[in-house]
Amino acid sequence: MTDEVRIQKALADAGVASRRGADALVADGRVTVNGAPALIGQRVRPGIDDLRVDGRPVGTRQVATYLVLHKPVGVTSTVADRHAARTVVDLVPREHRPPGTRLYPVGRLDRDSEGLILLTNDGDWAHRVAHPSHGVEREYAVALAAPLDAHQVRALVDGIPLDEGTATMRSVRRQTDTETRRLLGLVDRQGGPRATWYRMVLAQGWKRQIRRMLDAVGSPVLRLVRVRIGGLRLTDLRPGDVRALTSTERELVAGTRRDRGGRDQAPANGTGAGTGLRVAIDGPGSSGKSSIGARAASELGYLFCDTGVLYRGLAWLAAHEAAAPTDPDALVALIDRMALAEDTQGRLARVLVDGQDVTDRLHDAAVDRIVSAVARVPEVRTALLPVQRAIAAEASPRGVILAGRDIGSVVLPDADRKLFLDVSL
Ligand code: C5P
Repeated sequence: MTDEVRIQKALADAGVASRRGADALVADGRVTVNGAPALIGQRVRPGIDDLRVDGRPVGTRQVATYLVLHKPVGVTSTVADRHAARTVVDLVPREHRPPGTRLYPVGRLDRDSEGLILLTNDGDWAHRVAHPSHGVEREYAVALAAPLDAHQVRALVDGIPLDEGTATMRSVRRQTDTETRRLLGLVDRQGGPRATWYRMVLAQGWKRQIRRMLDAVGSPVLRLVRVRIGGLRLTDLRPGDVRALTSTERELVAGTRRDRGGRDQAPANGTGAGTGLRVAIDGPGSSGKSSIGARAASELGYLFCDTGVLYRGLAWLAAHEAAAPTDPDALVALIDRMALAEDTQGRLARVLVDGQDVTDRLHDAAVDRIVSAVARVPEVRTALLPVQRAIAAEASPRGVILAGRDIGSVVLPDADRKLFLDVSL
């Protein structure tokens, strides 16, 4: 069905120019309809009439399409591979393919690997997600025949020379039992239960990179499932399933999610119009600082950090290194070995020690036993001040919520908003 529309609308719909700009093109005599010069306000039939600007045919604009698919093993992700029995694009049902759209995969996932893959026809977005310069993380569940030793983990994190350069992993950790149960509930269990499963995070994406890196440390990959791209997780998408991304997910994947709240209004202190707020949440333990702060941050697209993870990370490291929890010099010397990283919900809640993710250990009994002693050492508190302020400063264009018992009073005395939470017994 093709209705007649005014020529300026047809040109605008095709993405040639705005309606006003299209009028100007017509007025300048640069547009023809079926070979004759176009007239302002002329009615045309898009897709039927031969519409040209400067002699070049005007197409109909493709509908921007963003899909996520759970690629099963055995399907190739390269559209151009003529020998492939099935490509990921073949898995996309017709209702997800608007007429005229040419979908292509964002990055690759080799034939033997499974899990998340994105498909789109939006080149800018694909570039934003796939190009290594943007550092969008990919997380993989990786099955190995046996646990890695400390040297192997170290080598993966520090880097392995490959033809393309030094291949590094952002983090390597054992997959928790819950994660393994969930994953094997989703994918075919074959080979699953007996393997040792890891979670590995990459910000690079070279061909078969994980397989080559693990070959290099002598522990070949048995199975590889991509479980996360940027902030988008596999969760309950079954093998072969395809669905459209929501606009929020599109931004989460590309790491461009912005807040809906403070960004467009000037902060209370009048500085830095157009930036997010710096919010401090103080209060005693168990008052809900972390859950409320994290919810609010996720609602606003802000970064959230419960600064307790810094003290917990340091306590874990002190226990691990058998450093006395009251020895200021020993404790302060350990701080540089810690780094925080964002989890998938935009919380700065992962603690890396020498690049290795120790987040799962932060509530170990060994940590609980010494963390308040560590947090009482004045030198530790002083040394962690610039760390916490840097977190707030770096996140400030986006907006940030910091929680902890001294945030509003000591760490960010000039916060844009201060909240104190309390709770009754
Ligand atoms: O809140 P959470 O129990 O994870 O905090 C760990 C430890 O760090 C606690 O002893 C807490 O009092 C301390 N802490 C602190 N200053 C902060 C955050 C946490 O002393 N800003």
